[in-house]
Amino acid sequence: MRIVLISTPIGFLGSGKGGGVELTLNSLVSGLLSLGHSVEVVAPKNSKLYKSNEKAKLHFVEGEDQVSWQHQNYNSPVSIPDNSLLAGMLEKGLDIAKKADVLLNMSYDWLPIWMTLNLDIPIAHLISMGSESSVISNLISKVYTKYPYSFAFHSKIQANDYPFIRKPTIIGNGFKLDNYIFQDSIKGPLGWVGRVAPEKGLEDAVYVANELEEKLNVWGVIEDENYASKIEQSYPRGTIDWMGFLSTNELQKQLGKCRVLLNTPKWNEAYGNVIVEALACGVPVVAYKRGGPSEIIQHGKTGYLADPDDKETMLSYVEIIEKINRKKCREWVEKNASTEIFANKVVSWLNKVINQYK
Ligand code: UDP
Repeated sequence: MRIVLISTPIGFLGSGKGGGVELTLNSLVSGLLSLGHSVEVVAPKNSKLYKSNEKAKLHFVEGEDQVSWQHQNYNSPVSIPDNSLLAGMLEKGLDIAKKADVLLNMSYDWLPIWMTLNLDIPIAHLISMGSESSVISNLISKVYTKYPYSFAFHSKIQANDYPFIRKPTIIGNGFKLDNYIFQDSIKGPLGWVGRVAPEKGLEDAVYVANELEEKLNVWGVIEDENYASKIEQSYPRGTIDWMGFLSTNELQKQLGKCRVLLNTPKWNEAYGNVIVEALACGVPVVAYKRGGPSEIIQHGKTGYLADPDDKETMLSYVEIIEKINRKKCREWVEKNASTEIFANKVVSWLNKVINQYK
């Protein structure tokens, strides 16, 4: 299959601004290449793919980023800036797609989904978030009536945000296992990984660390400076150890030293890449039972699930984390979330998308 991928219109690949989509795209490219497919990627200027993905052709586009939907009102209208990066990537993608079998859009935005109604080229949409915008959800509903197979989701609970889709295609996610090394660090520190923004609930993880009189290692892009400094000021100095945004290779080395990862979503987390990355390093995860984490973590086996926003229960689970066998964490990723497993699911979905145009 010849597949053209359209990246996120928020930040270049490797910047961290695109969140989990950046890693998902790279994992997907790895998996598709290993299955023998031909892949081209349209992405913002300065984007980088994994070295092992050099067989995929990368096309750069320059332009203004979109504003992330999770930081707008649910009923906000669509806004497209002058010199739009998204529009530029779509133009480029459409041009290349003339010689391809399918376009795979990875941006959560209105324009590429709307285009579906007016295109003869098969276009598939991997939806990376729960319902964060009424205008996008209504459009998905409209496109769905014409092309019922054109959408895929990472988790069942994410797809529940789109109740009009009767049998949603759920594809999970994939991780390049040799990028993550197992570490048996049962006495390590507490870790938290993610974009530092309100929907990620960092404050609850800091609460747990403070109760334990420990520090919390925090990795990720600080997307919302005000939010970050408010949390910092609410706790004794040094409770948060800001570790910065690291490459996957560096992140996994440091993350693997943790005894537990805390994951505290305040929104319907579509999947939660960082959970699987931690598990791949052997790090159990204590998370809120909200969104993707509740489908990934096996309670009592690879970590623990606390009721949403229940910090006290989260704390009690951290206190018994040594009961989790770290090898079982890695095993779950090997059996359920490798790049090959992921790419196979994507390919069978793309075949259904293409068949709609025959
Ligand atoms: N990440 C990273 N380096 C860091 C911190 C985070 O590469 O120092 C990446 C991480 O690998 C993951 C992404 O940031 O792929 C966060 O994705 P997730 O699905 O957890 O949440 P999202 O940002 O998409 O809401």
